[in-house]
Amino acid sequence: MVGPESLESGPLLYLPLLTIRVSAYFHLYLYRQPITTGYFYTYPLSEADVASIAFIFNGEGNLLLNCTTLNVVAWISFCLPKEMAMLGLDYKDRVLALKKEKNAIILAHNYQLPEVQDVADFVGDSLALSKNAATTDADTIVFCGVHFMAETASIICPDKRILIPDLEAGCSLASTINSHELESWKKEHPDAIVVSYVNTTADVKALSDYCCTSSNAVKVVNSIPEGREILFLPDMFLGAYVAEVTKRKNMYIWPGECHVHAGIKSEDINRMLATLKNADFMVHPECSCTSSTLYHASKGDFERQAFVLSTEGMMKHARSSRAKQFVVATETGILYRMRKENPDREFIPIKNDAVCKYMKRINLEKVHNSLVNDVYEVKVPAQVADKAKLAIDRMLAII
Ligand code: SF4
Repeated sequence: MVGPESLESGPLLYLPLLTIRVSAYFHLYLYRQPITTGYFYTYPLSEADVASIAFIFNGEGNLLLNCTTLNVVAWISFCLPKEMAMLGLDYKDRVLALKKEKNAIILAHNYQLPEVQDVADFVGDSLALSKNAATTDADTIVFCGVHFMAETASIICPDKRILIPDLEAGCSLASTINSHELESWKKEHPDAIVVSYVNTTADVKALSDYCCTSSNAVKVVNSIPEGREILFLPDMFLGAYVAEVTKRKNMYIWPGECHVHAGIKSEDINRMLATLKNADFMVHPECSCTSSTLYHASKGDFERQAFVLSTEGMMKHARSSRAKQFVVATETGILYRMRKENPDREFIPIKNDAVCKYMKRINLEKVHNSLVNDVYEVKVPAQVADKAKLAIDRMLAII
């Protein structure tokens, strides 16, 4: 501990400040809890900080220098996040006021940060968001999801202004195929019917015969005459699942995948299910983050029956099931709403780091910026939109 003799030699002015800040610093060090979502998650100590603390506690080194280091670090760790949190509260109020002022609505995907979900007029999966976009009277839609979803909204409602708060919010699955690659693939199979999952760009949709979601992919494929070849893209796991269920042999599958499910292994899931014996196992098929899980479920690779459910289906199941614990195969964002609506139930993600980094690019500050500056508008050119709409309309007709 710090000896009285070493303190006497240091500047006394620092003492009260130092006591408060060091204890705040240790509080932070012990609990490492998030202070405000989207800004700061953890505050690891650097080697220099630890050395400064050690020097002060041992009465070594230059006390003035060490105290200054600690004061700066403590301010960054303790006071700054608080100020940011207050700023966050301001953003929330300002966003709510701007929505009214501009006759705008905010549509947020299930995988968005909680702070974004909390200011949204509607939270749901990509298809539900597009349907909602089609029925709104608002002039502007701030679409908090990834780029292809905002494009789909623009195709469905061309007369509305569609804004996305961050243009870099892409999708690793959608970017596995572009229109040139699809054109060459089609040349190899000139008579094939092209079925594209909704996670594709507008250009790719425009070259497709059908779009599909994970919930109607099987029905879409079954609606195509058996003798016709099918090009299924871009999710290889969803494709493999559909081929398994439909027993279709003339289906060619594009080798695309979403980065989120790459780390979800069936052995890990079985290990978790073996530990949580009374938990229900739910699989959320949307967005391809769990299509590998869907595929394994169809092959009977899991020790327990999987409930394959949409977002709303999961909410209903959580309310009506006797189980108190639920193991959920999904991107972790959806758990926020589940926990909020069912506080007496426990929801456990199959993987804590099953996180879509693209979805998490959008935060409250960017939503605010989007409303203030009317950025970034997503507009699909009419000639592309008209062709893409045909494929989307066929998808909607088969749901
Ligand atoms: S979870 Fe995967 S499929 Fe969904 S938006 Fe993110 S990258 Fe794309």
